[in-house]
Amino acid sequence: AFDVLVIGGGPAGAAAAIYAARKGIRTGIAAERFGGQVLDTMAIENFISVPHTEGPKLAAHLEQHVKEYDVDVMNLQRAEKLIPARQEGGLHEVRLANGASLKARTLILSTGARWRQMGVPGEEQYRNKGVAYCPHCDGPLYKGKRVAVIGGGNSGVEAAIDLAGIVAHVTLIEYDSDLRADAVLQRKLATLPNVKVITSALTTEVQGDGEKVIGLVYKDRNHGTSHEVPLEGIFVQIGLVPNTEWLKDAVALSPRGEIEIDARGETSQRGIFAAGDATTVPYKQIVIAMGAGSTAALSAFDYLIRLPAE
Ligand code: FAD
Repeated sequence: AFDVLVIGGGPAGAAAAIYAARKGIRTGIAAERFGGQVLDTMAIENFISVPHTEGPKLAAHLEQHVKEYDVDVMNLQRAEKLIPARQEGGLHEVRLANGASLKARTLILSTGARWRQMGVPGEEQYRNKGVAYCPHCDGPLYKGKRVAVIGGGNSGVEAAIDLAGIVAHVTLIEYDSDLRADAVLQRKLATLPNVKVITSALTTEVQGDGEKVIGLVYKDRNHGTSHEVPLEGIFVQIGLVPNTEWLKDAVALSPRGEIEIDARGETSQRGIFAAGDATTVPYKQIVIAMGAGSTAALSAFDYLIRLPAE
């Protein structure tokens, strides 16, 4: 059995594995896809002390760094079920899709999240070529350009306010007849001169020139007419879904499905910790996930040294 078993190989899981292994304890990491969301990213310019890198490069560095330590790396392994220990200090069990089962004294859950997609033609083709999901990450790349934000909930309106300070013009597109964001955000949005809000609109296509985005098409849901909006960037803000479906019966989740953690990264179950985008941590970013993974590993170690000797 492992002392620390990490599930998920993104920035949070990699940091957790390194911090655990450096304590000289038996550490394993199982991941469906080592590297996580970083693999789907192109330019990364907010990984502090590294002014510019690219997703696949950072993902390779994560794996290389983990492999410098005595860590049992199990890539391409999907966890399907978690059975928490029956008593304090007992072994937790994780069942994998391949039928194997792993046991560990402590667990660190870092299965990340995925952005909900619009599912329209052009979205996949122009991902990272104008179609973006993270305003904190990619906003500055659109300085002085025209963008749209899809989604009028809190994250969409926050993104529009954020981007309006950087880009030339923002078109906010909402499917419903009203924005769903908090009133205070809507009031702030209404004061911004370079934002146009279009409601009752369904985005139907991302247009490109073969290389990058040049516009989008939306359908006016009241009149059935189609309209084109020329622009350079589209920020899709229709939800970030945590990869926690497999944890429903094992640890406490928030109404949005995020793993509830305390300041030490511990979940509702003793000896089970969590970190990164899969949790209730307020902001979802690489440096934040790494910090959280480190916190979770140190907390797991702290838990282990307090267990009575067998
Ligand atoms: P993830 O990176 O999501 O990793 C989750 C890991 O868990 C993966 O290895 C996955 O395969 C694995 N996993 C999931 N389910 C299971 C399962 N059931 N069993 C086993 N393994 C499982 N952040 C920045 O700071 N700067 C940026 O410039 C930036 N740009 C981004 C651009 C894009 C297009 C995207 C999508 C995100 C971007 N982000 C950026 C956000 C950043 O990538 C995430 O905040 C970060 O990767 C979260 O790390 P994580 O380890 O919590 O989760």
